[in-house]
Amino acid sequence: MADVDKPLDNWRETLTELQYCVTRECGTEPAFTGDYWNCKEKGVYRCICCGAPLFSSEHKFDSGTGWPSFWRPADQVHIRTSRDTSHFMVRTEVRCRHCDAHLGHVFEDGPHPTGLRYCINSASLKLDRDAG
Ligand code: FE
Repeated sequence: MADVDKPLDNWRETLTELQYCVTRECGTEPAFTGDYWNCKEKGVYRCICCGAPLFSSEHKFDSGTGWPSFWRPADQVHIRTSRDTSHFMVRTEVRCRHCDAHLGHVFEDGPHPTGLRYCINSASLKLDRDAG
């Protein structure tokens, strides 16, 4: 997959205001409002910006937080993590490695077998129901 490096103005043309706010400005959608927090359909969750296959319904679990939550990414090659000290907290931010979209954060209070909880904004994802 080719890496994507679009100017911010161009992202405005393809994203809704909320999608832009989350992925390009590190925003957070309000809990229990997104399309996928309660979604149990099978498929691959792709990056809303570049289409990279970020998460799978197979690794999704009900965290009770109001955001779609996964105990692992589909493949580590599609994401990258970094330390985020904004909002007076130390968190680990999760981004799409291909287009640098902000996706959410990962916490160490997830279920077996990884113990990880990828807390992801619905607005950064698009469920591909035809894929695997
Ligand atoms: Fe992306």
